[in-house]
Amino acid sequence: MNMSEQTKSHKPEISIVIPVYNERENLILLDEEITKHMQPLSKEYEVLLVDDGSTDGSSEIIRTLQSDNPHLRLIRFGHNHGQTAAFSAGFNKARGDIIVTMDADLQNSPADIHLLLDAIKDYDVVCGWRHKRNDPWIRKVSSKIANAVRNSLSEETIADTGCSLKAFRRECFKNIKLYNGLHRFFPTLMKMEGFTVTQVKVGHYPRIHGHSKYNIRNRLLASFKDLLAIRWMKKRTINYDIVEED
Ligand code: UDP
Ligand code: MG
Repeated sequence: MNMSEQTKSHKPEISIVIPVYNERENLILLDEEITKHMQPLSKEYEVLLVDDGSTDGSSEIIRTLQSDNPHLRLIRFGHNHGQTAAFSAGFNKARGDIIVTMDADLQNSPADIHLLLDAIKDYDVVCGWRHKRNDPWIRKVSSKIANAVRNSLSEETIADTGCSLKAFRRECFKNIKLYNGLHRFFPTLMKMEGFTVTQVKVGHYPRIHGHSKYNIRNRLLASFKDLLAIRWMKKRTINYDIVEED
């Protein structure tokens, strides 16, 4: 058995799930950074790169990287299905008991993964909190407003649900049905299932290569409609106490 087969057949402890949509120029550095920061942790891990219908040759680069790095797995969609779909496919194929999510563009740093892994010892979900955002000012302002509106309407306290850098125990996803857009509400959905959630401060870096896949319309407007659905679900959560049963 060569090293690649050995790693692939071995159940890893941690699965890192990363949606990739036209991120060609970020993938080599992403791979290097993950290796640099995961190796010292001495934990078995796999990286699931979910190519969400890229048209820029991202999958070809991932395949080339795979020949040197047995930790990498590729899931490739035929078309662009959106970030929630990419996460969902990654979660379904992930084998680790801990699932870490992050973006492919290095706005999150793999250097922070160990912080999430420390915190998840005591919680079911750990959310990264980009306390110093490195985005254009319009994004920072709109994100602050979005988080405030979201927290107020959904009676939530998460400072930064838009941060992809998160860690979950795999059982958190067991009873959750995902719909497009709901990746922004994972912590709320999981709290509704009784799981414990905490947040840790993580770094945030400017996007150097490629460009953001979102704009005001497909982020703020779409996520506001999703927020109303979450609010409705939260208010309608079934809750009962059985005091007697024969
Ligand atoms: N992404 C994806 N499918 C999409 C849109 C985005 O897989 O339809 C990926 C993208 O490649 C990146 C992550 O989701 O890895 C976050 O996207 P982006 O960086 O554009 O979002 P932002 O950081 O601007 O919120
Ligand atoms: Mg980004």
